[in-house]
Amino acid sequence: MNAVSQTSIPDFGESLRANGLSLGRLPLEILQINVGKRCNQACHHCHVDAGPKRIEMMNARTTARVIELMRESPHVRIVDITGGAPELNPHFRELVLAAYALGKQIIDRCNLTVLLEPGQEDTAQFLAIHGVGVVASLPCYSKANVEKQRGLNVFGPSIAALQKLNALGYGRADSGLELNLVYNPGGAFLPPPQAALEADYRRELGRRFGIVFNQLYTITNMPISRFLHALERDGEFGVYMQKLLDAFNPQAALGVMCRNLVSVSWDGQLYDCDFNQMLELPLGDRPRTIWEIAHLGDLEREPIAFASHCYGCTAGPGSSCGGALT
Ligand code: SF4
Ligand code: SF4
Repeated sequence: MNAVSQTSIPDFGESLRANGLSLGRLPLEILQINVGKRCNQACHHCHVDAGPKRIEMMNARTTARVIELMRESPHVRIVDITGGAPELNPHFRELVLAAYALGKQIIDRCNLTVLLEPGQEDTAQFLAIHGVGVVASLPCYSKANVEKQRGLNVFGPSIAALQKLNALGYGRADSGLELNLVYNPGGAFLPPPQAALEADYRRELGRRFGIVFNQLYTITNMPISRFLHALERDGEFGVYMQKLLDAFNPQAALGVMCRNLVSVSWDGQLYDCDFNQMLELPLGDRPRTIWEIAHLGDLEREPIAFASHCYGCTAGPGSSCGGALT
């Protein structure tokens, strides 16, 4: 099997140019807010290195500035809140309420089990009342595969949380409450075709648990953080990178999410995406915070900080927080 070495990975920018692509920003539409690394789970593939012992959390001052920027950036249509488990941040609801009052489309990237944690009993209802779309990780419809990746005793509560969301109208036609599931591979391989896998999920989750949902997003594992450590530990880094390189798709590159998204970290730093945030690769040509810009539109002229992990977004049908790109 072919394997590339760390030092021979082609420069991502060169690969774009070789395919006649020059990827600048498009008008900004999505504000993605990572409110911190605390999570009630500690999944093996987590690109955030999140877990119950992490203490990094967006505070009141940073939350207030993010809300100010949201208000001053009317062209931002979508507010996408992630973590960790974002619901565990004490300012999560404040962000949702502000985005709701401004008429933004709101997304909560939810790990499902958090909805059953003590103190979170009314979170699902809060999300439903404010029309928050839920994007929920569920890497399989089988207990064994889910728990291999996300930890013991995660599957049952995940199913119970999905049933709770369905009971509130999530995932049901005409409710206006979107419930989208996320699949990511359980190893060093690319996701299968999204539409076929979605049909399998729909059939199996419906048949076994009576669960309904809107869409399945397939997301490629990025070679960073915990997944990178696992690749290196198992001697699979070179083979995996080679798979991403072999599958480079210029059409997918045109749709990478950093072109119309900006990502804010728990401490107010600005990034091109959540992956760059984890690698501390700043947006544009220097590190910048939310206190150094007047509004988010200021960032549309900045270059995007591409690096070798970006091949994860451009492999096969492409990958983004909204699933396949092509
Ligand atoms: S639930 Fe999500 S944020 Fe939490 S550890 Fe798992 S992948 Fe990371
Ligand atoms: S990983 Fe790279 S290509 Fe993907 S969204 Fe981030 S900057 Fe863009």
